Amino acid sequence: MQEFILTPGFGLGSAAKPDTDQDMIILGGGPAGLTAALYGARAAASPLLLVGEVLGGQAAITTEIENYPGFPKGVSGTELAQQMHAHAERFGAKIQSSTATKVNLQTYPFEVFTNADRYTARTIVISTGSSPRKLGVPGEDRLRAHGVSYCATCDGYFYKDRRVVVVGGGNSALDESLFLTRLVEDVQILHRRDQLRAEPILQERAFANRKIHFLWNTIVEEIMGGKKVNAVRTRNLKTGEGSTIETGAVFVYIGHVPNTDLFRGQLELDENGYIVTDKRQRTSVPGVFAAGDVQDPVFRQIATAAGTGSAAAIEAVRFLDEQQYKEKRE
Ligand code: NAP
Repeated sequence: MQEFILTPGFGLGSAAKPDTDQDMIILGGGPAGLTAALYGARAAASPLLLVGEVLGGQAAITTEIENYPGFPKGVSGTELAQQMHAHAERFGAKIQSSTATKVNLQTYPFEVFTNADRYTARTIVISTGSSPRKLGVPGEDRLRAHGVSYCATCDGYFYKDRRVVVVGGGNSALDESLFLTRLVEDVQILHRRDQLRAEPILQERAFANRKIHFLWNTIVEEIMGGKKVNAVRTRNLKTGEGSTIETGAVFVYIGHVPNTDLFRGQLELDENGYIVTDKRQRTSVPGVFAAGDVQDPVFRQIATAAGTGSAAAIEAVRFLDEQQYKEKRE
C-alpha cells in the first residue's frame, strides 16, 4: 500500500500553534472522515476531526454491514465506526464530537466555526455525508419519533410484534426490512414501481422471507395518527386507487440528500447539491477537499467513502507540503 511521506524538513502540526489554528480540519465523522483522519494523522498533519451528530454517520445506523472487506461474517455499523475511531486516534488524530455551524472558504487560512469556537485551517476535508430523504407528506414531521423513523436499527425494537410499513425499493429498504423481521410481526414494503432497485441477493432474501410483503406501484400520501402513527393513506399509481393501511410505524428509506448547506455559494455543487470534486478529491476551492457521500451521488458505499477519504487526506497533506515549500522559498 502506498503511504504518503512528508518531505523532510516540512513537518506539520507544530506544537507551538494554538489549538484553534489547525493544518487540517475534517468535517464529519463517517467512514470517509474517519479514514481521512487516519491518513492525515499518519502523515503527521495532526488533523482535527469534528465528528458532527453521529460518530460513523449513516454507516453507524446500519444494522449489519456485509460488504466491507475484511469482515466475512459482517460487522455492525456501530462496531465499525468505533474501530475506525480507535484506529485514527491511535495515530494521533484529534477527534471532537462538535459540529461545524459555519465555514468561511473565502479567506485563507479558512475559518471553521462551532457553537463554542472559531478555528482556522490550512486545509479542509469535507465529509459531512448525507441525510435521509423525507417523503414530504402530511403527518411525516408531526409524527417523527412517534412512529415515523429513518432508522430501523434505532427504533425497530419499539414495534416488537407489531405490523410496520417500510417505504422504498433500494438496498436500504430491503436491508432494514430484513432486520425488522427479527422483531416485528409483519413488514409491508411500499414501492412506487414494480421493480426493485436493490441488489439481487437482498431481493432473494426479501422474497423468501414470510414476514415481508410488497405493495407495488404504491406511494404514501399521508401518515395518520393522533399522538402516534396508526395508519398510512396510500395511492396505487397504476390504478389510481386509494387505500388505508393500518400500521404501528413507517420506516422511510427513499434515498438521501447531501449535507452541503454550509458550503452553498462557496463551493461548486451539482444540480442535486453534491460537492463537485475531481479525480483527486479537489473541490472548486484549492485546499478544500471532499470525500464520501457528500460528493458521491453514484456509489455511496462504505468502501468507496473510505477510499475517497484516504485520497482526500493524501491530497490535503500534499497541498500543505507544497504550501510550506513555497513559503520557505519566499
Ligand atoms: P436508493 O438506492 O437511492 O433507493 C431509494 C429508493 O427509494 C428507490 O427504490 C426509489 O425508487 C425510492 N424513492 C426515491 N424517492 C422516492 C419518493 N419520493 N417516494 C417514494 N419512493 C422513493 O437509496 P438507498 O436504498 O438508501 O441506498 C443508497 C445507497 O447506499 C445505494 O448506493 C445503495 O447501494 C447503498 N447501500 C448499500 C447497502 C448494501 O450494499 N447492503 C445497504 C444500504 C445502502 P425508484 O427505484 O423508483 O427510483
